[in-house]
Order: sequence, then C-alpha cells, then structure tokens
Amino acid sequence: SAKRNGRNHSQRFRPSLDVQDSPQLGMLNDLRNALAVGGQLELHYQPQYRLEDDSLVGLEALLRWQHPRDGMVSPGDFIPLAERHGLMATLGDWVIDQALAQLSHWQSKGMPEVVVWINISAMQLFQGDLETALASGLARHRVPPRLLGLELTESVLLDERAGDIAPRLEKLRRQGHHVAIDDFGTGYSSLGYLKHLPLDKLKLDRAFIQALPDDQADAAIVCAVLAMARGLELEVIAEGVETEAQRDYLRAQGCAQVQGFFYARPLPAARLEAQWREQISAGQIIKGKSFAEA
Ligand code: C2E
Ligand code: MG
Ligand code: MG
Ligand code: MG
Repeated sequence: SAKRNGRNHSQRFRPSLDVQDSPQLGMLNDLRNALAVGGQLELHYQPQYRLEDDSLVGLEALLRWQHPRDGMVSPGDFIPLAERHGLMATLGDWVIDQALAQLSHWQSKGMPEVVVWINISAMQLFQGDLETALASGLARHRVPPRLLGLELTESVLLDERAGDIAPRLEKLRRQGHHVAIDDFGTGYSSLGYLKHLPLDKLKLDRAFIQALPDDQADAAIVCAVLAMARGLELEVIAEGVETEAQRDYLRAQGCAQVQGFFYARPLPAARLEAQWREQISAGQIIKGKSFAEA
C-alpha cells in the first residue's frame, strides 16, 4: 500500500529527514528571536456579536507573526512548534500582556466594555504558571478580570499532563475570568466533562457551521448542542460564520452569539478601533455587518 511504501521510504532515507527538519529549526530560532527583539508579533482582533441585537460583545485575540523574510506565518504553523520546543509559556505570557495592554488602552480611551478572549494552550497550563501570569498582568495594566476571557480547546481537557483541570479552572473563574471551550465538538472527549467543569461558554467549531443550513447532519448536531447548552446554562458562540444563510439559521435556532468572516476578519488593533469608533459616532452603536463592509 501507499502507506507502507511511505514508511519504507522514510526509513531508507532517514538522514534526509533531519535535513527536512532544519527549516523547522530555523523557524524555531527565528521565533525565539522574534520574542527577544519584539516588533514582529502582533495580536489581531476578531469581533463577536450577539445575534439578538447585533451588538459587539467580544473580541478574540489571534496571534500573528510577521516574519522579516517569509512574511506572515500562520499561528497554525508556529504555535505547534512553540509547544513542542518549550516556547509556549513565553509566547503565552506575551499574548496575555499584549491583550491586557490593549484592553487598558481601550479603557483609558473610553471605549465600550467588551471581553477580549485569548487562546490558552495546554502547555501554558502545565509549563508556566498561568494563574500568576494573569494575576500580575491584570494588576500591572489595571484591567478587571471579567474583561479577559480564556479559550481552551477540548484537547486541553484531555491532556493528562495538565492534571486535574477542574480545580485550575475553578481558580481562574474565582479570579474573575470567563472560560470557554474552543473548537467544541472536535476533541473526541466525553460529554461528561461538561457536568464537572466550571465553564461559561462553548465555541461551536467551524466544522459544524460550514455546511449549514443544508447539511442535515450538521444541522442536527448544532441543534442538539444548543439544546444541551441551554440545559447546562452555558452560552454558545458559533465560530466561522461566513454567510447570511448560516447567520439566519443560527439565529432561528436560538444561538446567542456569532463570529466569522461574514461579520469581520481578525483586524489589527488600530484598524479595529478606527472602525469601531466610526460606527459609534455614526450612531450605529457597534452594529454587526459593517465591519465586513469596511
Ligand atoms: P481558533 O482559536 O479556533 O481561532 C479561530 C480561527 O478561525 C482563526 O484562525 C480565525 O482567523 C479563523 N476564522 C475566523 N472566522 C473564520 C471564518 O469565517 N472562516 C474561516 N475559514 N476561518 C475563520 P487563525 O488566526 O489562523 O488561528 C488558528 C488557530 O491558532 C486558532 O484557532 C488557535 O487555536 C491558534 N491560536 C491563534 N492565536 C493563538 C494564541 O494567541 N495562543 C494560542 N495558544 N493559540 C492561538
Ligand atoms: Mg479560539
Ligand atoms: Mg476556535
Ligand atoms: Mg476552530
């Protein structure tokens, strides 16, 4: 089979695997450098809207790396690398500090309160001291914890190295943070955890949204998750909403919040702020849709 050939092939050419690895090592060095020199990493912010009144309720912070030679590198490429090579705690601390600095800036400029959600990697839970990084960041930037939400993927819950996650989440929520499960439905984890873990919100993975409203199976899954979340008193946000039909379907089914290219792409903070201000001064009070038109 092709699979077996592939394996034989890689065994026979073992030395070339190291050569293949070296671009990765190069990238790793470049990432270390980026963290040291500054100026290459940036957070972009993607708006989240409440469907009931199209109001802006949150922003997801998404990491961007402008590589000096290769241009924009996707977080899907460099985050796994950082995780494998022990850089994620440092990178995660940078994200926390940057998001809080931005929140503090928006606070001082009198922007309306919205929750900024950051993505937390499993490595941050068992390599670094997440609780301390958050607490000291909040104090340094004078930002109330309710404004910084934490997104954890289902795989984090399954990672044995993270230990018993319930008391950790309990502590983070006692500190005042909102906690969401990201990419919900893709992690192969038992639903039982929903009963035991202190959570505020589920982020329905884009995979279930893409083919709405036509795909009957996805529609069934989405409706079931919404019903379950109501019973568990968890909020739901659908991610990856790209079309009006998807938005309309989600609204009809009672999904509370949405995020996706239909509304807005992740934007650099300054551009996001400019559009946000325009909408406020136009009296549109942060209505959805117009971010996408701009
Ligand atoms: P995620 O947390 O699930 O973030 C959502 C991803 O979907 C983002 O990709 C976003 O740009 C993209 N997206 C949003 N709306 C749409 C849409 O309508 N259609 C499509 N096709 N995509 C949409 P991005 O920015 O490339 O990030 C990929 C993943 O990298 C994130 O998935 C998250 O797991 C990870 N990541 C990004 N920033 C951070 C970070 O600061 N820390 C950690 N630990 N992980 C991060
Ligand atoms: Mg996320
Ligand atoms: Mg997600
Ligand atoms: Mg996702």
